[in-house]
This record gives sequence, C-alpha cells and structure tokens, in this order.
Amino acid sequence: MKSESARAWQWFIEQCAGVHWPEAQPPKVVVADLGEGLRTAHPNSKLSTATLQFCQWHAFQAIRKKINAGARSGRGYNKKRRIRIKDRIWAYLQAATKEELDHRREALLREMTLDHQAYLTKYYAPLEEYLISYHVRKLPNLGAYSTQRGESSNQAVKNFTRATMGMRKSLTAIKRYTQERCDTILSTETDSFTKGAMYVTQMQKDIKDGEPPFGRCATLGIGTQAFEDIKLLFTRYALVYTAKQYRKALELWFLPHTHKDRAYCECTSLVRFGLPCEHKLL
Ligand SMILES: [Zn+2]
Repeated sequence: MKSESARAWQWFIEQCAGVHWPEAQPPKVVVADLGEGLRTAHPNSKLSTATLQFCQWHAFQAIRKKINAGARSGRGYNKKRRIRIKDRIWAYLQAATKEELDHRREALLREMTLDHQAYLTKYYAPLEEYLISYHVRKLPNLGAYSTQRGESSNQAVKNFTRATMGMRKSLTAIKRYTQERCDTILSTETDSFTKGAMYVTQMQKDIKDGEPPFGRCATLGIGTQAFEDIKLLFTRYALVYTAKQYRKALELWFLPHTHKDRAYCECTSLVRFGLPCEHKLL
C-alpha cells in the first residue's frame, strides 16, 4: 500500500474483515501508531467496536523527533537536556497511577521549550486515555503497550507480510496460521480442564479438613461447594489463579470493616483475563 490515508485504511479494513475474512471476530483492541488515517477511518469501519490504542514506542519516537528537530535548530536543548528528556518521555508514557501520570507529565513539560509544551498539551493530553500505561492497562489487550513485537520480532507476522506475497495470499496464510494455533490451544485446554477438576476436588478436601486459611470455613460449614459449578469449565491455570484470589477474599471476609473494599478496586484481572480479583469475589 502506498498511502496511509483514511480512504486507504477504509479499503484495507474492508478487504480484510469484509471480503477475505468475513467470519473473523473483530478484536477488542487494536494497537496502532498515532497516524491520522486510521484514526479517521476507524469509527466508520468494521473495526468500530474495537478500542483504538496507541503504541508507546511510536509516541516516544514522535516526541523525540520534535525535540531533536528543536535541538538542531539551536533552540534550547543541549545534549544533557536531551538525554534527560528521553528518560522523562518514557517515564510519562509508562506512568502506572494517576499521581504518577500528573507528576511525570509536569516533569516532562518542565524540560521542554514553550512551543513543545504547547505541542504536548494540545496533541497528547487528549490521547492519554489510549496511550499511557495507567489507562491502557485496563484494556483487554493481553498486556500490549506497543506494536513493536508485531512489527520487528514476530517471525509469523514477517512471513505473512512480505511485499511479494500479495494481499489474498497473505490473508489466506494468516487465516491458516491462526486456525492451527487455535487447534493447538484447544487440545492443551482440554487437558487443562481435566486437571482443573482434580484441583477443585483437592481444594474441597482442604476446606473440609480445615487446612489454612480455611480453618474457620470448616467450623462455619461454608465453602466446600466453592468452585463446583466451574469444574470442567475453567482451565487449571484459571482455577489456580481464582483460588488464590478466593483465599485472599476469605481472609478479607474475616477481617472487620472490609466491606468497603467491594465498592471499587483498580484490579484489572476481570477486564483483561476474564478472571475475578478478591474484591469481586467478596
Ligand atoms: Zn480488585
């Protein structure tokens, strides 16, 4: 493709999701660079239900490019300041809490010249919700913060996006690869469901015997039915994770005044992996 205009993107998405692969489920999140073309095309495309997240690596490059251009024109950046700014850009992008974000944005702005301060505030502030770690870690994006692992190091992606391949061939190969991966996962999952069921039986025995931290559960006669309904529906991995949260929830339950914890929490396991945290289990 020669262009990344909105029209080109519109056509590309229609070709992928409409013509060549209409049965594909739309993704929940699409990670892309900050290009205007996709941002304009996205709301009216077959990807409109997906959240458009922006790549931190591309954002870093874009901000640094501005700074370097400023430095070359001899306006306000010496070498030491440029190195400091580099760290502060990453710190800003990777801020993990609201406080960190506010603090690090300020720290970055302080290092910038006035016109770059205006640029950051005007251009990046409205995008933060879809770019900064604090926000995007809540998205069901399997832990992706950049497009890098897809672009430069993923052998499968490289194999399917060679310029000589042509679009139809490329999409057919991606389809086949995805199907094969799903088949492999299915057999591993089936095995894991059975092991998960055995794990539940063991846990029910522990509860009955009053093993820590289930001591009080046994006395009160609660908990032995826990996990019965999700036997053979959860993989062993998911069960071990949930059981850990369940133990934490029990510990919280027996503490006085913990009910406030139910109201709001910032755990991301439910939205990212579909597994409840201890607060949701309370
Ligand atoms: Zn929580």
